[in-house]
Amino acid sequence: MMTNPIPQLAKRLAYLTAALVLLDCGLAAERKTENLILITLDGVRYQELFGGLDLEILKATTTDGKPEDTKTYKRFWAETPVQRRKKLMPFFWGEWMHRHGSVAGNPQKGSVVRLANRLHFSYPGYSEILTGHARDDLIKSNDKVLNPNPTVLEFLRHKLGLQQKQVAAFASWDVIGVAVQHESGAVFTNAGYETYAHPDPAVQSMSRLQFETLTPWDTVRHDEYTFRFAMAHLKTHQPRIFYLSLGETDDWAHEKRYDRVLAAIARFDSFFNELWNWLQDNSQYRDKTTLLITTDHGRGDIALNWHTHNAQIRDAKNTWLAVISPDSSLRGEWTGGEPVVMNQIAATLCHFIDLDYSEQNPKAGKPIARLFEK
Ligand SMILES: [Zn+2]
Repeated sequence: MMTNPIPQLAKRLAYLTAALVLLDCGLAAERKTENLILITLDGVRYQELFGGLDLEILKATTTDGKPEDTKTYKRFWAETPVQRRKKLMPFFWGEWMHRHGSVAGNPQKGSVVRLANRLHFSYPGYSEILTGHARDDLIKSNDKVLNPNPTVLEFLRHKLGLQQKQVAAFASWDVIGVAVQHESGAVFTNAGYETYAHPDPAVQSMSRLQFETLTPWDTVRHDEYTFRFAMAHLKTHQPRIFYLSLGETDDWAHEKRYDRVLAAIARFDSFFNELWNWLQDNSQYRDKTTLLITTDHGRGDIALNWHTHNAQIRDAKNTWLAVISPDSSLRGEWTGGEPVVMNQIAATLCHFIDLDYSEQNPKAGKPIARLFEK
């Protein structure tokens, strides 16, 4: 029996379209990310990240002469916020966010990133980032104790079946060494003043020097050492999951040394440049690595309270977040959109590597959908 060819053709076209849609969805879910690098910059305010030097704070903290005569002003001042932030972080605002990544949290652009915890100090902030869950009932101090909850680093090691050195955390503040894990030894850590054992004599000598060139604080070493040991570990062990935690910005702020805070942020920018160039030269990492950069809390927003942060300082809940990933097509600054909550970071990291963090913590924030939009 002859059938009418027109409906047949329509039917075939419908099947073909359905098949193409399925194929497209399959491709969309396929991720390029094989490595994750989390970087935190302790207590770096969105005000400096997006606006550079704040003249009111420089005025309030200049004790000798006019603020305009200071080295800090000459190095970092420019007329507009966009010019100032480029002076402070030329690599971040130049090549990085322009060509490779995106950054959320500028209130001037209607973008909000905020903490779920109400305490606005370090351990609660790091724990929220690392576990995906604010636990104000459990984490009430910066005491150096193991995380009361399993972290995303532990989840990733378990799910990916990695050796300990493949999941590593390097930190300037000693408490990070315990905040990253619920079970001691689950993550390879080097945090605070701690010897870093490495075959390279140059690294050995730096490991000794950290104890000779002290900061004013007993629990935070200079970020320079943390970064050098982190790079040595990356080169030697090529970890899949890596956490770099830099800290001097917070401590200089508590000391009201705005000049040192800005110098430290500029130093971070040169670390980013060096790290990025190294990743681009390495076949395990190039085009296969997602980097997520954020901070543990904000601080006060006026010259009176910029140096501090706590539950009473409302602006301290506001943070920021940058992502550079072969699996995210966003570039530059985010404008508008739903607020991002810091408890979404753990699940977002896992989503980049096609894992579902709710398996470990169903109460954790969900992946940040906007990062994965095509
Ligand atoms: Zn602090």
